[in-house]
Amino acid sequence: MEAVAQGGWLEVITGCMFSGKTEELVRRLRRAVIAKKATIAFKPGIDTRYDAMAVVSHSGFSFNAVPIDNPVALLRRIEDAEVVGIDEAQFFSPEIVDVVKELTRRGKRVIVAGLDLDFRGEPFGSMPVLMALADEITKLHAICTVCGNIATKTQRLIDGRPARYDDPVILVGGLESYEARCNIHHEVPGKTLKLFKE
Ligand SMILES: [Zn+2]
Repeated sequence: MEAVAQGGWLEVITGCMFSGKTEELVRRLRRAVIAKKATIAFKPGIDTRYDAMAVVSHSGFSFNAVPIDNPVALLRRIEDAEVVGIDEAQFFSPEIVDVVKELTRRGKRVIVAGLDLDFRGEPFGSMPVLMALADEITKLHAICTVCGNIATKTQRLIDGRPARYDDPVILVGGLESYEARCNIHHEVPGKTLKLFKE
C-alpha cells in the first residue's frame, strides 16, 4: 500500500512535457477524495487549454480546478480543504512559494505539479525553490521522439525546427509545437554555457 502523509506535507510532481505530471496529480487527488478528504485544486488563470475549470492532462483525465491569477487569492479560496492540488505551478508569480509554505504550516497536504525546466533547459519559475522545499519529489520522464531513450527535456519547435534560445516566448506567426527529448537530442540553437564562453 502507498503511504500517504496526512497533512503538513509538500509533494512536488515534476518533469518535462508529456511525462504524465497532471495524470499523477489527478490520480493523487482522486485517491484523496476516495479517502473522504476535503480536496481542492488550482491552476493559473492563463492556462486556458481545453477547459477553464478542469485540470486536464494530455490523456484526458480531469479534476475540477479553480483558475486563479494571483497565488495569494488561493489562500482565500481553500476553505476547509485538507488536500490542495496546484497544477502548472511554474506559471505562478513568486508569491506561490510563501503560499505553499503557509498551506503546509496550516497542516494541509499540498501536491504541486509543474515543469522543472523551460524549453531552453533552464529552471522554470518557482519550481526549483518548491522542489527544494518539498518533503517528497516525484520526477517523471517521457520518451525521446528521436531515439526512444528516456526524455527529461522539452523541445520547442517553430515551423518544425528547434526554437532558438532567444526566440520570443509568445510567438506571432509561425507554427509552434513541443516534443519530449533526451539530453542528446534536446537542441537549443544559440545557447552557450557561461563556463565555455570565450
Ligand atoms: Zn534522444
